Amino acid sequence: TGLVVAMDGPSGSGKSSVSRGVARALGLRYLDTGAMYRAMTWWMLREGVDLGDPAAVAARCPAPVIVSGTDPDGPTIHVDGVDVAEPIRGADVTGAVSVVAAVPEVRARLVDLQREVIGEGGIVVEGRDIGTVVCPEAPVKVYLTASPEARARRRSAEVAGSTVEAQQEAMAKRDTLDSTRKTDPLSMAAGAVELDTTELTLDEVVTAVLRLVAE
Ligand code: C5P
Repeated sequence: TGLVVAMDGPSGSGKSSVSRGVARALGLRYLDTGAMYRAMTWWMLREGVDLGDPAAVAARCPAPVIVSGTDPDGPTIHVDGVDVAEPIRGADVTGAVSVVAAVPEVRARLVDLQREVIGEGGIVVEGRDIGTVVCPEAPVKVYLTASPEARARRRSAEVAGSTVEAQQEAMAKRDTLDSTRKTDPLSMAAGAVELDTTELTLDEVVTAVLRLVAE
């Protein structure tokens, strides 16, 4: 069976760029599990599901067909055949995703899907609970962190028309929801190596992870 690299951490810690860089360097596939939670949220919003009602979200969550493409050079995400790569990055989805991701039935369904994609391995998987829940047996587990300022700076560089201050506030809200929810909150897995990326370039972080893989 192939290698699994579990890459966890909060948003803006550099997970996506680092995961894709590592997958590319090692010829592995790449799975963005956050995109799956976003895709589920996009579908719930489109269907007009009341997100304030966890039972309604739970009842509907088996329905959407979510398909992730795992090429690190061009990852894709489709819901019921619709390419949602762009809309899942919008402010409405970003503002609602933590609430949807807190519903246990949503997590159970997406964790199953993620394990199907992981299959026999050969993949870098990024998320919040990969090393703790989705793939605790992963031989390489990384927990990326960065200062709140650095994370907000990176995120606002990606999102048009946003200020660093607004990003930092929105992120703090999402962090609190993600790390205090009852089901599988964001936390560092046993055996994970913490990497603080605040003062590092992307290449330096990728090199550090490749070194862990080689160990
Ligand atoms: O990584 P990204 O910021 O796109 O993730 C969006 C949201 O999806 C997170 O804020 C979190 O609520 C949820 N998520 C999760 N578990 C994962 C990945 C993402 O709960 N493995």
